[in-house]
Amino acid sequence: MAKNVSPTNPTRVAAILDALTQAYPNATCALHHKSAWQLLVATILSAQCTDVRVNLVTPALFRAFPTPRAMAAASLPELEELVRTTGFFRNKAKSLQGAARVVSEEFHGKVPQTMDELLRIPGVARKTANVVLGSWFGIADGIVVDTHVLRISRRLALTRQTAPEKVERDLMQLIPQSKWIDFSHQLISHGRAVCIARKPRCAGCPLEPLCNAPGKTFSSH
Ligand code: SF4
Repeated sequence: MAKNVSPTNPTRVAAILDALTQAYPNATCALHHKSAWQLLVATILSAQCTDVRVNLVTPALFRAFPTPRAMAAASLPELEELVRTTGFFRNKAKSLQGAARVVSEEFHGKVPQTMDELLRIPGVARKTANVVLGSWFGIADGIVVDTHVLRISRRLALTRQTAPEKVERDLMQLIPQSKWIDFSHQLISHGRAVCIARKPRCAGCPLEPLCNAPGKTFSSH
């Protein structure tokens, strides 16, 4: 696409969304979970950690403490031991214990379905809340901005911001709400497979004709 077209031109944005949908038609959340609570826990654990690592840790964690009530009664050392390999395990254990207490005491053991309520849970910021709302409840209240979504949105010039909440606000202005949930799943898939942090694989990228990122490793235009 010509370099003088505004990066936020609706036709360009629509072309990006179409290319992503064609390339990643079945992109979903890679964290294993069977309930909103399990997804919330897995997302808390995924901070600064790969989903593969989280998926190795959660089965034993949920066997030991299958419900929010059970986890609320767990001691911090027990939780720390179980989540140790995900990194930042002391903070994460504290968040899990706090989250389990709030979900079991304030929300009767059920993960709430609104952004405001989710943000009252320890360890939950907008990213985690958006993951749970979008991937479990199918509610598009915002857009998940993780490291991949942030990096690629900037490379595609959909935002100039660097703070996740500001990036999210820009994306929410540009992208139709009906696409919010799929868009982040697709960008996360794209960030893992093609638009990797170092040396993006631009030669094989389905978005390449639409992308003018300064760090491209190949350019057809
Ligand atoms: S062309 Fe390169 S920088 Fe642009 S989206 Fe594709 S992989 Fe990323």
